[in-house]
Amino acid sequence: MKMEKKIKSFMDEVRQRNVHEPEFLQAVQEVAETVIPYIASQKIYDGKNLLLRMVEPERAITFRVPWVDDQGEIRVNRGYRIQMNSAIGPYKGGLRFHPSVTMSILKFLAFEQVFKNSLTTLPMGGGKGGADFDPKGKSDGEIMRFCHSFMTEFFRYIGPNTDVPAGDIGVGSREIGYLFGMYRKIKNEFTGVLTGKGLSWGGSLIRPEATGYGTIYFAVSMLATQNKSFDQKLVALSGSGNVAQFAAEKAIQLGAKVITLSDSSGYIYDREGITKDKLAYVMQLKNVERGRIDAYVTKYPTAKFYKNKTPWNEICDIALPCATQNELTGDDAKKLIKNGCICVCEGANMPSTPEAITAFREAKILFAPGKASNAGGVATSGLEMTQNSLRFNWSRNEVDEKLKQIMSDIHTACLKYGIEKDGYINYVKGANIAGFVKVADAMLAQGVI
Ligand code: NDP
Repeated sequence: MKMEKKIKSFMDEVRQRNVHEPEFLQAVQEVAETVIPYIASQKIYDGKNLLLRMVEPERAITFRVPWVDDQGEIRVNRGYRIQMNSAIGPYKGGLRFHPSVTMSILKFLAFEQVFKNSLTTLPMGGGKGGADFDPKGKSDGEIMRFCHSFMTEFFRYIGPNTDVPAGDIGVGSREIGYLFGMYRKIKNEFTGVLTGKGLSWGGSLIRPEATGYGTIYFAVSMLATQNKSFDQKLVALSGSGNVAQFAAEKAIQLGAKVITLSDSSGYIYDREGITKDKLAYVMQLKNVERGRIDAYVTKYPTAKFYKNKTPWNEICDIALPCATQNELTGDDAKKLIKNGCICVCEGANMPSTPEAITAFREAKILFAPGKASNAGGVATSGLEMTQNSLRFNWSRNEVDEKLKQIMSDIHTACLKYGIEKDGYINYVKGANIAGFVKVADAMLAQGVI
């Protein structure tokens, strides 16, 4: 069968079974296009339906999360956990609290997580979960009651050797604290069942910074393939949450001029550059006051706020999408390319649409998919799990050095499988195949289960 037909027939089968899950199908299609030709070229993998097994979650759980708001009204949300693949270790992946959360979104994230975790070289399977709960505008008490209720059901499915969740959109250190507190109470045990914990109760140094820093370390390796660096480069960044904040911090440290940040209300453009002090203000605004990004222009009036817009129209050398899925479209990609952008490195999961990825590949600019470039977060979560098991803490410098090494190793793995005949580095192909190989080998060894 011709390769295109093979991919189409595979996707037809997956589509039939997941017909109402567009984000999941998008993530599978991207992997199928690069991994199916590879499987066909390798006798040990061919004919074993490995990818067909990998697209079916080992387990998908939904559950009721009732809670009481500040007005005394009873509210109900839906909780989820997708336990996608545990061939190489316990399920590992974040929890997302956002009104847009659906089975499709969580399955796409869990599927990507399997490849990402494999790339880190640490023994972690892939999972993802969360709830269609909107933390925006909720009081601390409401957040606590929701997290506690979530855990009174969720505790049954997780454990330090079974499934170790972490944060994602809407789940930061505050939420991890409330979730961990209830788990510890119900189970009467203090174990590393969640990562992203506070430092005084089992957390790892550098974990808050890890996804953002790791994205920049990966981009440093990408730029180095063209003898370039962050120094003096103009950086457009989206998001203003955990990943965006620390990607901005590291890029600034490396001499770049970061000119944009955003949230779901729009983006701010600061032509003078977002300095270390201005970023400290954003961190206070977002992490403590829980305000909106337009407050930045009140504080720094030379900056501009563009309502309901994304930053991809601005002239930049490097673009770092760090907010959410499908936030960078084909048209955005064309604008970036036209404006001279040389590198796009994803901090978020699947922020670029398939049309955008095609445009980057055709223009042959550097492009890294999140499953490779944002793997620093989960890698450091893996290091947190190790420290919890050893009941021991590494220093900030030790964790940072390990993170740098892991990101550099992921880059090397992408090069191993991703260099095209004309020399172009196809990071999508490299990450997909490198991630696939480790999981596939384990699945083959363990038989059909
Ligand atoms: P946060 O909740 O800390 O921040 C998310 C940011 O993205 C906020 O600025 C938010 O704005 C914005 N955002 C969310 N949804 C939308 C939307 N629909 N449209 C526009 N902007 C939006 O999350 P993180 O920084 O942790 O996560 C960001 C991305 O990085 C996600 O794709 C996540 O899956 C990925 N990621 C995170 C990791 C981590 O360690 N935290 C690890 C690997 C990947 P607003 O406040 O207005 O909603």
